[in-house]
Amino acid sequence: MEHPENDKAYKGLVVNAGIEPPSSVNPYLKNHPRRKKRSLSVADYVDGIVKGDVTILSRAVTLVESVLPEHQTVAQEVIEKCLPYAGNSVRIGISGVPGAGKSTSIDVFGLHVLGKYGGKLAVLAIDPSSERSKGSILGDKTRMEKLSVHPKSFIRPSPSAGSLGGVARKTRETIVLCEAAGFDKIFVETVGVGQSETAVHSMVDFFLLIQLAGTGDELQGIKRGIMEMADGIVINKADGDNLERAKLAASQFRNALHLFPASESGWTPQVLTYSGFYNLGVKEIWDMIYQYIAFVKENGYFEYRRNEQSKYWMYETINEYLRDNFYHNPHIEALLAEKEQQVLRGNLTSFVAAKNLLDTYFSDLKR
Ligand code: GDP
Repeated sequence: MEHPENDKAYKGLVVNAGIEPPSSVNPYLKNHPRRKKRSLSVADYVDGIVKGDVTILSRAVTLVESVLPEHQTVAQEVIEKCLPYAGNSVRIGISGVPGAGKSTSIDVFGLHVLGKYGGKLAVLAIDPSSERSKGSILGDKTRMEKLSVHPKSFIRPSPSAGSLGGVARKTRETIVLCEAAGFDKIFVETVGVGQSETAVHSMVDFFLLIQLAGTGDELQGIKRGIMEMADGIVINKADGDNLERAKLAASQFRNALHLFPASESGWTPQVLTYSGFYNLGVKEIWDMIYQYIAFVKENGYFEYRRNEQSKYWMYETINEYLRDNFYHNPHIEALLAEKEQQVLRGNLTSFVAAKNLLDTYFSDLKR
């Protein structure tokens, strides 16, 4: 039957021919491609950092942490160019065993110093055991809830696992970049379980040790060396039922510190109690730290310690480079397991084995 639509007399709506369905891909997208990260030149990095651009700072830190030689080359140039802008900060090392309350404390400490002294704060970490993919235990943003959303703070987790020397060097270099970006307060956090304290101590102006009141035997298990490094010891969780125990622990620490020889700085390490969670005694800790800074700036120890640290890092870098170069030498890689076996079986003394390997390495260098 004829459709009424085709009749000239028909006054109704006309059905038009359809059109090709449009592409399901938005044609405008090709005009707005997803922006790929433009690679930056050394000058771009330095300009961005000096202007305080945190995105560029983050990217530069990523280069510092990279193991790729081409990244390292750029990173080293950026660091060198940032050096003239660096150094103008107060660097504080914060150490304590897991559970001592470091994250809780750093959150309140950070807010306190930014509130009282202004400026900008970078929180870095040294944790040689951390692997980011497994969830770094240090520097994790969610652990410092308030600070991580503060506009004047920059929190960076520990460089991922590697040799302690390598991890520490990267953190030390990151300090330079942060300072060039205008961060005038630097916290370097570490888990208080061993050698990483020495590394942190070698890059900060003040070393703060967070302790807990425990079973009454506070001084057991804390290494004398670590206590000797401390410019201040603070007993956390001095709240509620724990208050008296914290006070007792503090007096035990004070007594123990008396037995140590006077520190090189002329400063007598202080012992204080506080509660990071309830924000009690935090002001006193920072008054003490700033008092120390004024004291050592006045007597010249501040400069002296920083110079000594620069020297230390020069040797550390040399040692690390030589070690790396030795162990990555193809001949050494090929020989090492064999020599090790010979030593284990008693066919070769340790010294002869070491000498053989070193001779191989040095004669390789001469070629
Ligand atoms: P970290 O492992 O050293 O970083 O320690 P955290 O900051 O994660 O704290 C470990 C636990 O101790 C958490 O459950 C905190 O809530 C608790 N804590 C931290 N500071 C205090 C404090 O001042 N008083 C009390 N009572 N608990 C605290």
